[in-house]
Amino acid sequence: MNNPILVLNCGSSSIKYALLSDDAQARIQGLAENLGLDTARIKHTDIDGSKIEIALANANHQTALTKILSLLNNYQPIAVGHRIAHGGAKFVQAVKIDDVVMAEIEYLSVLAPLHNPANLLGVKAIQEIYPNLPQVAVFDTSFHQTIPEKAFRYALPKELYEKYQVRRYGFHGSSHIYVSQRADSLTKRQTNGWITAHLGNGSSVTAIYAGKSLDTSMGLTPLEGVVMGTRCGDIDPGLQSYLHRTLGLDFDQIDTMLNKQSGLLALSGLSNDMRTIEQAHLAGNTDATLALEIFCYRVARYIASLSCALPTFTGIIFTGGIGENSPLVREKILENLPHFGISIDHEKNQLLSRGVEGAFHLENSQLQLWVIPTDEEAQISKETKQVLGL
Ligand code: ADP
Repeated sequence: MNNPILVLNCGSSSIKYALLSDDAQARIQGLAENLGLDTARIKHTDIDGSKIEIALANANHQTALTKILSLLNNYQPIAVGHRIAHGGAKFVQAVKIDDVVMAEIEYLSVLAPLHNPANLLGVKAIQEIYPNLPQVAVFDTSFHQTIPEKAFRYALPKELYEKYQVRRYGFHGSSHIYVSQRADSLTKRQTNGWITAHLGNGSSVTAIYAGKSLDTSMGLTPLEGVVMGTRCGDIDPGLQSYLHRTLGLDFDQIDTMLNKQSGLLALSGLSNDMRTIEQAHLAGNTDATLALEIFCYRVARYIASLSCALPTFTGIIFTGGIGENSPLVREKILENLPHFGISIDHEKNQLLSRGVEGAFHLENSQLQLWVIPTDEEAQISKETKQVLGL
């Protein structure tokens, strides 16, 4: 593996890691989870696909990263690219990390209290282990900094925007940019108007024209937009004071409810996992059917509304765990878009899953339909190299 880049996505109790070769074809990857608990462990997949699991009771981020680096088969990364959740309006692209950048990421923690501090734990741990290794911050929000003001402002007092950074930001940038660029290269055109639907445990939908994000479904936080695994997506903001008044819930309790106890999990009463919901739906469970219907209808509604942002509408790209793997969800979303002149190749749709890339529209379709497996690690590695001139 030549000139490998280590890509890290550090959460409060987990580290997703991948060491990528120069061309991003070869990789060593894994997940450290339950950090800080006696069940802490690393699930590691080597370059040949072999898997091991290592118990690391009570490991913190630094202990886990030291172990992860020792598992990289003596490959020494030449740089580290970090997925950083929130770059606010400050970071319009990836940047090399120094003390000033770290202070900014810390400052932006008010906008992403669960994510930015955890992301910084990884940066600090690498600084301790390899003080001279260059590190780059790749923000989930940067790609959306091209969204015009008419789309990113909320209809709220101006002071909230000017003094307190209250506006829409959008997330999943590395995924939306990766799949739209891939579709541009597959269609050999740069002036496409795409709606990218990243549907996973967290989901967002973005309007992209000529490589620029023009609007997206997530907002100030990743809670806005479509229904997700455990997040509610769009709700009437009046709900919060209603819950406070009638149930006496405080804001932390409401926050937990909307982020962790809602979405597909709440609607189905079963699981946040779309596979479980599909199986239950096929077995006749009516709550699972409703969860599926609501999920698909809301995604379709976003596709239709975000198409307003596009000068021309070339097609829809599905990605993320659900978008890449569920022909049923794709069909049901498209069923809710009867006015767009879409013709589906149903057989082709069934064949697109488990990492298979391809189009599934018929020749007479007004819109192209694509499944493009996302590769956020490859995008982060690419931007890390660009920033460092490697
Ligand atoms: P994250 O947002 O955590 O990165 P992913 O993009 O990996 O999530 O998507 C995870 C979700 O993908 C799972 O929760 C599951 O609902 C869904 N998923 C994975 N495989 C399938 C499948 N074959 N059919 C339907 N849904 C699937």
